[in-house]
Amino acid sequence: MDSTKNTRGTANPAQTTPGKTQGNTQRTPLSSLGEFALIDRLAGFFPTPSPHTVLGPGDDCAMLAPPEGKQLLLSTDILLEGVHFDLTYFPLAHLGYKAVAVNLSDVAAMNAQPAHITVSIGIPKRMGVEDVEEIYRGIEAACSHYSVDIVGGDTSASITGLCISVTVIGYSAPETIAKRSGAKPNQLLCVTGNLGAPYLGLRILEREAKVLRANPEASLALKEYSYIIGRTLMPKPRLDAIDMLAKAGIVPSSMIDISDGLSSEILHIAKASGVGCRLYAERIPIDQETMKAAEELNLNPITVALHGGEDFELLFTVPLELQERMDDLGVPIIGYITPAAQGCVMVTPQGQEIPLTAQGWNAFPTEA
Ligand code: ADP
Ligand code: MG
Repeated sequence: MDSTKNTRGTANPAQTTPGKTQGNTQRTPLSSLGEFALIDRLAGFFPTPSPHTVLGPGDDCAMLAPPEGKQLLLSTDILLEGVHFDLTYFPLAHLGYKAVAVNLSDVAAMNAQPAHITVSIGIPKRMGVEDVEEIYRGIEAACSHYSVDIVGGDTSASITGLCISVTVIGYSAPETIAKRSGAKPNQLLCVTGNLGAPYLGLRILEREAKVLRANPEASLALKEYSYIIGRTLMPKPRLDAIDMLAKAGIVPSSMIDISDGLSSEILHIAKASGVGCRLYAERIPIDQETMKAAEELNLNPITVALHGGEDFELLFTVPLELQERMDDLGVPIIGYITPAAQGCVMVTPQGQEIPLTAQGWNAFPTEA
């Protein structure tokens, strides 16, 4: 079987209704297929191979031919049921999409474009073949959209929850790679888009899931929050912004993607670069729907934008001379870099200075 052919149309994971009970009505047990037949079925979802893929899935290793003079970038991320996602409101196709998207975002965060992924999946007994295919529909949609191929993976049963781990490979000219460590005093701190929406989308989903559990017939308030829920369920790696910067001939001096929260990411850049930072609260871009949801949930929108996380926007620094260029490109400037001795502070609209702290996602929380 030619496992590298894309035999299906691109799925749209957004068509899955959030909040619905997960799983397909038809559920073929994985045991009736076995590991190898399952991989063969999943191969139907593999996207068109990259020109740099010499040998795709099917052998003991994939073989890649990196473009000449480029450096290889590699990153991996794991998503575990009960830790990173809850299947009561996270549709399987969206989960597949997200597992790819968060990895692509890490390559974007180096100012580079991704090329390949591998997908490893641990499947609990309660899931059938159709459920795994649903996950792969989302994986395929993300791969096709961002032009990356699948060059391998691993498939196993899981005795606990669902687990999806994706590894991504990208290629980049060494001189255009942006690390966390290049920020210098007086440089501008920029962000590629509005913040806080994914966190509030999740809070709304959680709230509506509770409503549905109490009353399965209840009508849900999902439509008025379609933008923020979309940001939760379908994170978009900002590869378009990387493309825009490349076309403008701009190489950021430092860059990071916002996964754990703006505040936490600023502190990462500051630590790696040995600098401080002044962030202006009123300059943080926040969408109207985010504002409305924050108000409804009794949360401060600035706090949400600072600590919500999972925005997958890019935070980066550029020299001060590029201020006008950034304005022309429509990239919000939210602050500037200072010497380390000045620390990392947020300036409120009243002119008050508040030290930035990392309160975002913590992989090892203490027991509540
Ligand atoms: P091995 O025994 O060497 O680990 P496997 O039987 O697990 O090999 O996998 C066979 C081939 O299928 C390999 O090329 C592997 O990369 C690929 N593969 C396995 N599982 C997946 C998956 N979930 N997604 C994509 N490729 C996969
Ligand atoms: Mg294997």
